Amino acid sequence: MSQDTLAYEQALRIVLDASARRGTEECSIATCLGRVLATPIVSAVDLPPFDNSAMDGFALRGASTLHAGTELDVEGEQAAGDGIRHAQYGAWEIMTGARMPDGLDRVIPVEQTERLASGARVRLLADVASGQNVRTAGSDVARGENVLDAGTVLQPQHVMLLAALGVAKVPVAERPRVAVLCTGRELVDDPSQTLASGQIRNSNGPFLAARLPLAGAEVVHVETVGDDAVAFESALHRALNAGAKIIVTSGAVSMGRYDFVPQALERLGAKTLFHKVAIRPGKPLLFAQLPNNVLLFGLPGNPIAVAVGLRFFVEPALRVMLGIPSETPRRIPLSKAYSKKPRLRFHLKSRMHIDAEGRLAVEVLDGQESYRIRPLADANAWAVVPADVDALLAGALVDVYGVGHFEFPLPYEATP
Ligand code: AMP
Ligand code: MG
Repeated sequence: MSQDTLAYEQALRIVLDASARRGTEECSIATCLGRVLATPIVSAVDLPPFDNSAMDGFALRGASTLHAGTELDVEGEQAAGDGIRHAQYGAWEIMTGARMPDGLDRVIPVEQTERLASGARVRLLADVASGQNVRTAGSDVARGENVLDAGTVLQPQHVMLLAALGVAKVPVAERPRVAVLCTGRELVDDPSQTLASGQIRNSNGPFLAARLPLAGAEVVHVETVGDDAVAFESALHRALNAGAKIIVTSGAVSMGRYDFVPQALERLGAKTLFHKVAIRPGKPLLFAQLPNNVLLFGLPGNPIAVAVGLRFFVEPALRVMLGIPSETPRRIPLSKAYSKKPRLRFHLKSRMHIDAEGRLAVEVLDGQESYRIRPLADANAWAVVPADVDALLAGALVDVYGVGHFEFPLPYEATP
């Protein structure tokens, strides 16, 4: 390994150290899905807000357990939405969710009762103790309780809780603004354009533009340039003018004659923090800091190198910016033996599945070459084999990461 090739862990440390937490903004709970909570949410209210009935039945009171056979006058009726009522003497017919009339402390379900004297009285057919079938105020959430931690990626279940607490807006981390610049004179953006000899379609640009929002970023600029340093530099300026704090480029960072990105960055006064990491795919990856602390990830152009660079360098940086703790991989057994050459950390297109016994396993897919995008479409995870490991037996545990840092789908279908 040449001296200027960094281990992944060292390179990642440099990326994390260069990434700063970004500001926060208010977000309505109607539009907060996928946003990251910036501060903990402390409930200002009790939930439920008042003692209410868990059943359709009769609300009652007593000094001790009321026994089967007891007969009581029916004093009133209380439905969901009815306000404060003061019980004077007997039983109250009550509906699920209705506020308990003051003075009553228990509910007997309607099926454990019998109406007497054309409805004016009720007989209990079962014992009922104090507190039975009452949902007390604050029993779900007490006022002052911490209900959601900072760093929570907001999901519909959080929206349910926030809505129930009457929280209309929450402070969330600003989405880091990202620009995507693809390089390569062979690239064609317009899908209706017929390919000339030697041309290919740009797939990295649409991939990055699709995946970055799922990773918590806002894509502010997408552009394709030829292998032309001047065009690249002016595209970079447009990206900066669009407010990009991260620039992700694809292509032109290797050793070829047209790999102009390193020199172009030098001319712009950028500080290259590393170039080349001991990983596969994506070894020529470059990381630089532009003036104003804008981060530039120069990903090699092969599509899987782009996917790996995004997943294992850009997404960890986004986590820092969003205020989310670093990721812990899942350890999952390999369904088949796997071997690789040592010295490079491998990021493998993989598929988690459940075996015939219902056990979770991960399969390294065929076709790991960095130009092969079809296996990525079949993948639902990344398996990572460290640099110093060269052979793993079937059943060995490997580190598995979701396709995106917010996504870890668990398969439920058995292997065919
Ligand atoms: P480069 O890193 O520029 O040498 O590109 C490496 C390989 O990736 C070449 O085969 C390129 O044609 C291919 N490639 C570069 N950019 C893209 C892109 N945006 N979409 C698809 N393939 C690309
Ligand atoms: Mg190129």
